[in-house]
Amino acid sequence: MKRRLKKLSGNPIKYFLILTCLTVSAGFSQTISPDSRFKADILLVLAHPDDETAIGSQLAKWVFDDGKKIAAVYTNRGQGGGNTYGREQYHAMGAIREVEVRQALNAFDISNVWFLDGVDTPGQDVLHSLQNLPHGASLEKLVRYVRLTQPDIIITWLPHFSAGENHGDHQAAGVLATEAFDLAGNPAIFPAQLGYPREIQDINNFYEGLLPWQVKKLYFFSDRDEPLKAPGPAFDVTTVSQTKGKPFIELAAQLNIFHKTQGFVADMAEEALKTGQWQPMISWLEKFQLIFGKAVVKCRPDGDVFEGIGRNTVSNDRFSGTPINDQDGVRIELGGVFDYYRHFWQAHNLGHLSELLEPEITISYGSYFHVPLLLINNEKKSLTLKLNADLPEGWEALSANGEFTVDAGQTLPVQTFYFAPSEEGEKIHTLTWKIIQGKKIVDDVHMNVMLSDWTLPQ
Ligand SMILES: [Zn+2]
Repeated sequence: MKRRLKKLSGNPIKYFLILTCLTVSAGFSQTISPDSRFKADILLVLAHPDDETAIGSQLAKWVFDDGKKIAAVYTNRGQGGGNTYGREQYHAMGAIREVEVRQALNAFDISNVWFLDGVDTPGQDVLHSLQNLPHGASLEKLVRYVRLTQPDIIITWLPHFSAGENHGDHQAAGVLATEAFDLAGNPAIFPAQLGYPREIQDINNFYEGLLPWQVKKLYFFSDRDEPLKAPGPAFDVTTVSQTKGKPFIELAAQLNIFHKTQGFVADMAEEALKTGQWQPMISWLEKFQLIFGKAVVKCRPDGDVFEGIGRNTVSNDRFSGTPINDQDGVRIELGGVFDYYRHFWQAHNLGHLSELLEPEITISYGSYFHVPLLLINNEKKSLTLKLNADLPEGWEALSANGEFTVDAGQTLPVQTFYFAPSEEGEKIHTLTWKIIQGKKIVDDVHMNVMLSDWTLPQ
């Protein structure tokens, strides 16, 4: 600014006129037009480079046949995985995976791709993944990308704990995306992103100049072993593309082949392209059907993804979410991530997700198993509750049963630990916990445990 003042020194009226002309010719008014190079129809919010391959066939249709613009945000660079191509690990491999996914998405004309710089956290615990992102700073970044790309639709991982959805990072991406859906249209959230910059063409400006943006629809997909029966737009991956003349599954393979450090993903596609045997890839990708999350426009949950989108912008005031009503009765609930999701779904108007599944988890044979429980007393007096675990054959309880005093209006967290059977037998075991007051069973809760040879840590 100082330098410009020097050059323009002399006639103050002339200086004023020049500045005015500059401002007008640049076309800036009180509201800033969004940069149209970044406008997206769909924003993908994913965890790891390669997650986009799960919906590769759908992406092929939207990009090649429907002419839609897609942008993507990854919460981390997948640096915690194993490398099936070279010796590089951790940050070095993360650097490689960033390039692999950029090359893959370039094949689909998707170049607006960002990373939240989170820590890849292999495990099943969504709260651990959110902690490692870290959560707050990542949410601020994601809201920024939503406001920059102004998507009509967000597609992300299902924020739900299930057997086979083996990565807390996937669920964490779904949590962040849901929060961003609810927050990005609110002008009171991250206001420094929205302030109108003082002098746009000058240096060292305050504020970012974005606009609040309400996304219209939110969809999920899940890595669960058995596909979920949930409302959403069905998609046949074997349908032939009208513009490319090939099945979408074959177009999807062009994404996979770039992920050389993630053997399974690349190998599956290379094998199919070489042999023409597409069934293994079809079987794998068929399970990633979209699940309807919510919408602020009129549409059917199982209607087309773009149904009801239209051109109008919408406001976010319909989505304030209400806290869960935990005031009633004497109860037992699963704690930890299960308790988190009960509150999360309620707060984000996703109550229907609680109907999708019984509580479940996959763990390894013989493994040390932790189940957090909550004993809830909403009576007006202190209570003594007996906790009783019903365990299937072969299970060993390390700490579970006992008597607990729960003060009036309080929730007592109880941590319980077990060893799972080490012998192969039944694949699905149901564990039940009861609370007993006097001789009366007051409430119970259960969990279905799938046993397998290997899983990520709890
Ligand atoms: Zn992943």
